[in-house]
Amino acid sequence: MKFDKNKCQSNFVCTAVDPDHFQEADDGKVELIGGTVEGNIHTLEVDESEKTRAQQAADGCPMMAIELIDTESGETLAP
Ligand code: SF4
Repeated sequence: MKFDKNKCQSNFVCTAVDPDHFQEADDGKVELIGGTVEGNIHTLEVDESEKTRAQQAADGCPMMAIELIDTESGETLAP
């Protein structure tokens, strides 16, 4: 899962839908719990069993700030 903090507008759909992966950050935006940060891009590997909620978060983000990508095929699974 990939999250672009620059696109985030803090409406917290993601933390409501997928609180195991998203939490509010000190700057008022969100962060991926246990994720890797490179500039404004945060990445996190999601287990198969947790994929549905990550997908719902990506689909629910009105800013298209979250992307769920299959690491093997490179295919975008959501949004
Ligand atoms: S749903 Fe999108 S815009 Fe809203 S807080 Fe989460 S990442 Fe940011």
